[in-house]
Amino acid sequence: MPLYTSAEIYRHAHEGGYVVAGFDSYCLEVIQAHVRAANAEKAPFLLQVTPKGFRHIGVSYFAGIARAAIEESRVPVALHLDHGTTLEEIVSCIRNGFSSVMIDGSMLPFEDNLALTGKVVEIAHAAGVSVEAELGRVLGKESDVEVRAGEEDFTDPGAAAEFARETGVDALAVSVGNIHGFYRGEPRIDFRRLEAIHRQVPVPLVFHGGSGLGAEVIEKAGRLGVRKVNIGTAIKKAFADGIRAFWAEHPEEFDPRRVLGPAREAVVEELRGTLRMFGASGRSPRGGRWQEEAAE
Ligand SMILES: [Zn+2]
Repeated sequence: MPLYTSAEIYRHAHEGGYVVAGFDSYCLEVIQAHVRAANAEKAPFLLQVTPKGFRHIGVSYFAGIARAAIEESRVPVALHLDHGTTLEEIVSCIRNGFSSVMIDGSMLPFEDNLALTGKVVEIAHAAGVSVEAELGRVLGKESDVEVRAGEEDFTDPGAAAEFARETGVDALAVSVGNIHGFYRGEPRIDFRRLEAIHRQVPVPLVFHGGSGLGAEVIEKAGRLGVRKVNIGTAIKKAFADGIRAFWAEHPEEFDPRRVLGPAREAVVEELRGTLRMFGASGRSPRGGRWQEEAAE
């Protein structure tokens, strides 16, 4: 069971100079696709779920399937809550064996976000669990967090430095032009702002809204402290496209196994490409465990 905290995975990614993928999931076939893609590419990764994902599959079902997925995995994996907004969600995930949680207080005033995040860090670190928080508002909708056009807010470098220092978070999600959902036209990332954040904030940075960011953006972001990029939209699209393509060829088919199998494969193919683009392929240690941990 190569379960690691996200902080441990980011440390190795930092040393190796690559970007870690955070894959969102909510059903059996998609979870299997993530494990298959990461194992085929020998890439460490984060298996993620949002509160909305939990409402689809159920916490105990997810925890059970995730346990099986981690047992099957031969690459380092962190089990991560994406966009948690309440202490109850955080505690529930820690109890269910998660090694990493995000508390998203980005919709709160700065002081309230700081207080909530600090509380989560206290609880999670006591259990050996990593914490990601967010400062600034990322345009678009993800789980229970929605930011409409005109309400987005880029992360302030000075505030981010204070926030990271005061809370003790392990990673910080930033808003610098990245968005949840589909990009209209070319993504416009404010790299000068990202560089300023990177200079002042000592923890790994996270991009939400990674679907549609090209190799050039990922490579540049990786050099400016971005250690994890979340993938959600591209997974949904690959899965739906896989189903549509299968049904276009086999309109009479009604067996879910025959429909969902090709959809799962479509996600595997999509994410193998993502992992290669992130420079994460081939980074898993032999046997799925980093040496110092194996020696313990
Ligand atoms: Zn997100």
